[in-house]
Amino acid sequence: MTDKTIKENAEEKKPLNFIEQIIEEDINSGKHKEIITRFPPEPNGYLHIGHAKSIILNFGLGERYKGKTNLRFDDTNPVKEDVEYVDSILEDVKWLGYDWNGDVRFASDYFDQLYDWAVMLIKKGLAYVDDQSGEEISANRGTPSKPGTSSSGRNRSIEENIDLFERMKNGEFKDGEKVLRAKIDMSSPNMHMRDPVMYRIKHAHHHRTGNKWCIYPMYDYTHGQSDYIEGITHSICTLEFENHRPLYDWFLEHIYETGKTKPRQIEFARLNLSYTVMSKRKLAQLVEEKYVSGWDDPRMPTISGLRRRGFTPESLKVFAEKIGVAKRENIIDVDLLEFSIREHLNKIAQRVMVVQEPLKITITNYPEGESEWLPAVNNPEDVSMGEREVPFSKTLYIEQEDFLEEADKKFFRLKPGGEVRLRYAYFIKCNEVVKDKNGNITELLCTYDPLSKGGNSPDGRKVKGTLHWVSAEHAVDIQIKQYDRLFNDEAPDSYKDRNFTEFINLESLSVAKNCKAEPYLKQAKQCERFQFERKGYYILDKESKHDNMVFNRTVTLKDSWKNKIFL
Ligand code: ATP
Ligand code: MG
Repeated sequence: MTDKTIKENAEEKKPLNFIEQIIEEDINSGKHKEIITRFPPEPNGYLHIGHAKSIILNFGLGERYKGKTNLRFDDTNPVKEDVEYVDSILEDVKWLGYDWNGDVRFASDYFDQLYDWAVMLIKKGLAYVDDQSGEEISANRGTPSKPGTSSSGRNRSIEENIDLFERMKNGEFKDGEKVLRAKIDMSSPNMHMRDPVMYRIKHAHHHRTGNKWCIYPMYDYTHGQSDYIEGITHSICTLEFENHRPLYDWFLEHIYETGKTKPRQIEFARLNLSYTVMSKRKLAQLVEEKYVSGWDDPRMPTISGLRRRGFTPESLKVFAEKIGVAKRENIIDVDLLEFSIREHLNKIAQRVMVVQEPLKITITNYPEGESEWLPAVNNPEDVSMGEREVPFSKTLYIEQEDFLEEADKKFFRLKPGGEVRLRYAYFIKCNEVVKDKNGNITELLCTYDPLSKGGNSPDGRKVKGTLHWVSAEHAVDIQIKQYDRLFNDEAPDSYKDRNFTEFINLESLSVAKNCKAEPYLKQAKQCERFQFERKGYYILDKESKHDNMVFNRTVTLKDSWKNKIFL
């Protein structure tokens, strides 16, 4: 390490991960003056938290090393791709707070160049047209211990290959009738090197190139060359591409022109989360089969789902930072993700009081028809957020669970004859329990101590419980959607003989319809986040209506992650 590296490192007090080490070596050795990374999504679904990890990694490196990061759609497969997905991906990257270098790029922008390079490879004797079907090609590819069998196409003349490839392009053949293959090594121990397919015929409309092409380049033939065209220095991808790296390098080797930047592929372990499925195909199935309300259902691990659930970009960045960059696959505890959002919302969220299962309280010694407004702190973590006022009156609501008729000594909330503090208001004492004819509690008759205003003890007597509450006549009716994990199993897609949908948690959504909120919430704006005191963090849903407010619960206040750390 150079002095500079050591110094920068000491300033940030964090060891470099292996990708940062490679980049710093490349900068310090003068190999690259400026680094360029890229995020290359395939527009065949909405992005998930794993993609967020990759976005944060790639754009984070660009920022850290004052380089650039490109956004490039890997749109080589015309059938699965959709403009809706492109738009959602752009929105997600922007929401995470990143700005890509120049225009959005598309691998399809390079189809002409890729075609020319394919012709060049044919002319060099490095590619050939094969007439075998897909099944024949796989069958003849051999096994890792048994070499593959060459097809007759392998010995075609350069002239014939050029002619056939041109006719493939001109639409003279049907889907699957011919492919273009790289001529590498049918007995390579690396299966990806056994004459991989470069182009296949697909008479399909493409979302950008329309009907211009009926041959489409394969991912492996496209990706490295797209990196090369864009001058990408470090092409970071997930571990499953490790075995593709020799092929990535092989293509680049044969098209490389001296003086240009040769990109380097570096692999890291993909993010896996407990109680979550992450593949786009499975997420699409959840949407199509209506297990969830859409790609942005707040239970989905998609970026749009997490956004709707109330996550902040900052919390996802902290999460990505905490899990770091690994070389080996592992499963990250979903509690860590919740811990990250809790930490952030604790610092920024406006506090309000909301009673979710109301129990009526009458303050018998409070004058009828009167009310008063009492100051309440907006966020004890941030005094600059100031105060608001909450109304107090003769009829109030507290949570049903905050009262127990037969309570033991350890129950510090309200009980017959007991006294508690109503937050920001007064001490109250429960004198009588009112029940209906079935024996259900319908109301509590209490008295308040006018000398305990603000919740302060007038004479040094102590109360242990402090409850949240809402004044009945001022209350706003709201609904709360409470989300739990979408799956009951820690690794729902890890079973060979069982489908991941068998593990769906049928109680992952419950709606509390009769919640009473302090009037401050009337002014809540779409997507504004709150802490409902003693309960958790909530966000006003993006589709909430003014006269029917719906909040999504982001997370409860209970933090199981902290317990895990200290156990
Ligand atoms: P999936 O397998 O989940 O459907 P994908 O890999 O097919 O995703 P792409 O659109 O091809 O999705 O991925 C774009 C980028 O995001 C790639 O560089 C890929 O390596 C990265 N990526 C995808 N999933 C994860 C993950 N779980 N963790 C980290 N990076 C990921
Ligand atoms: Mg992919």
